[in-house]
Amino acid sequence: MVLSKPNDAPVQKLFDLTGKVVAITGGGRGIGLAVATAYAEAGAKIAILYRTTTNAPNTAENLASKYQTQARAYQADVTVPKEISAAIDQIVKDFGKMDVIVANAGICSEHAAQEYTPEEFQEIMDVNVNGAFYTAQAAARVFKRQGFGNVVFTASVSATLVNTPQRQAAYNASKAGVLQLAKSLAVEWVDFCRVNCVSPGYTQTQIMEYASKDVLDKWLGQIPARRFASPYELKGVYLFCASDASSYMTGSNLVVDGGFTLP
Ligand code: NDP
Repeated sequence: MVLSKPNDAPVQKLFDLTGKVVAITGGGRGIGLAVATAYAEAGAKIAILYRTTTNAPNTAENLASKYQTQARAYQADVTVPKEISAAIDQIVKDFGKMDVIVANAGICSEHAAQEYTPEEFQEIMDVNVNGAFYTAQAAARVFKRQGFGNVVFTASVSATLVNTPQRQAAYNASKAGVLQLAKSLAVEWVDFCRVNCVSPGYTQTQIMEYASKDVLDKWLGQIPARRFASPYELKGVYLFCASDASSYMTGSNLVVDGGFTLP
């Protein structure tokens, strides 16, 4: 579905991804895996991009047999433009096209800002901002050729909010970068693809493992829902972004955080 054409599909069709090809970075675990599962359940063919998750190829096979769709895994480090670009070209070769890219890979670290080494700070920026850009850029080359496409970025509540106790200057800055990147690309690429962000709140995945029990308790106290999200609770919002149900949405940021960012 291209933005220039109105979408009047019946509601039963709006979330149906049958025939669509969806690729997702960081798809081997955590939020990415939950989202890949949602897309497979909705009928899409799935390309799981991973860097080190060794069970990603098995995961793809399991999705394929469970949801009777095609699913494959592709290894690529998002910080290496040649790798992500080659993987996306291979996906298009294997599946014949690509409808959606979810630029979801990300890392976090916790440090007093004055103690970051240039390398540590750079690594966060490399994965979260540069990697997201290289992923979207490689996909956009395909989308421009095809005349259609859809980019979904994983930003974060940290893109707009600094909570306490908080020692994540690099992560926050990187996710603010993702948000602004998404808005810029939404305008620049409006003729051939939509670009949106999902901003999850605290979600129980490996990325949260660095936080101490004390810190986790403090965060919990700040969430009106009084619990963290399961990654599977993000399936709906990512499905919405990837599907024709959001056909007129571009440049938006959808926050799913149990009320955490409410004033
Ligand atoms: P996980 O740590 O479980 O997953 C991170 C994913 O990123 C992994 O699949 C990992 O792949 C991938 N990744 C990291 N570095 C690279 C790289 N250089 N190249 C390719 N892939 C890479 O955490 P989440 O699932 O929670 O994180 C997914 C996204 O959600 C991230 O962008 C994160 O910032 C964001 N987010 C998470 C929140 C949370 O509370 N969990 C809240 C808000 C946003 P591999 O394992 O194969 O190396």
